[in-house]
Amino acid sequence: MRKKIVAGNWKMNTTRPDGIELAEAVAARAAEVPEGVGLIIAPPFTHLCCCGKRLKGTKVELSAQNCADHAKGAYTGEVSVDMLKAVGCQWTILGHSERRQYYGETDEKLVEKVKLALGAGLGVILCVGENLDEREAGKHFDVVKAQTEAVLYNFSAEEMKHIVIAYEPVWAIGTGKTATAAQAEEIHACIRNVIEAKFGAKVADDMTILYGGSCKPSNAKELFAEKDIDGGLIGGAALKADDFLGIALSF
Ligand code: PEP
Repeated sequence: MRKKIVAGNWKMNTTRPDGIELAEAVAARAAEVPEGVGLIIAPPFTHLCCCGKRLKGTKVELSAQNCADHAKGAYTGEVSVDMLKAVGCQWTILGHSERRQYYGETDEKLVEKVKLALGAGLGVILCVGENLDEREAGKHFDVVKAQTEAVLYNFSAEEMKHIVIAYEPVWAIGTGKTATAAQAEEIHACIRNVIEAKFGAKVADDMTILYGGSCKPSNAKELFAEKDIDGGLIGGAALKADDFLGIALSF
């Protein structure tokens, strides 16, 4: 069964006290969100542990925003999947466009990270999406197809059960420019076809595909009404509990 999910990527925002307050505010109202809709928050590494404690006994799950591409050892500044698991993470976001753009995250590296994350028992939210030049050149389908295949075609149908895809057009992230529901839907449908081509109809049908890019309470309903849009990966609007929950209540 395909899951509906609203996940909040806090990026490099909130201090520890602010983060705790936000996690508590989300947790306090999580029960209002319909049963079939999962909630995930992804605070910065430094407050995963304390935010995670505030989620105990609620439906809200904890995600990291990234993980190391090695299991352990001399990789100064990195955080391993086992460390994430040990502080209570159930998920990690991987391949966010900001990581691809500013930190040289390649598809090859992402394959290693996804392998490590799944091996540690973490679910993965894998981000794909074209930039503005690629969209204007009409290459958006090809770019998203290539990104999806390059990473996910290395995994099995069984492993795909623990992976969620987030389509995030780079030109819509943090810009206030949302893809229209029709623009998002045609890419989501394309991603589902890419999954079906390798893994078959059942895996494709069960695959949760989130939309991300200036999603907010005022546009979530229209986006989530599309048949291949199964929720959202939310940046800016995840920093206010009311907005984040407002999005989750749009189903
Ligand atoms: C994101 O960065 O994952 C994102 C979707 O950001 P925003 O909602 O702020 O566009």
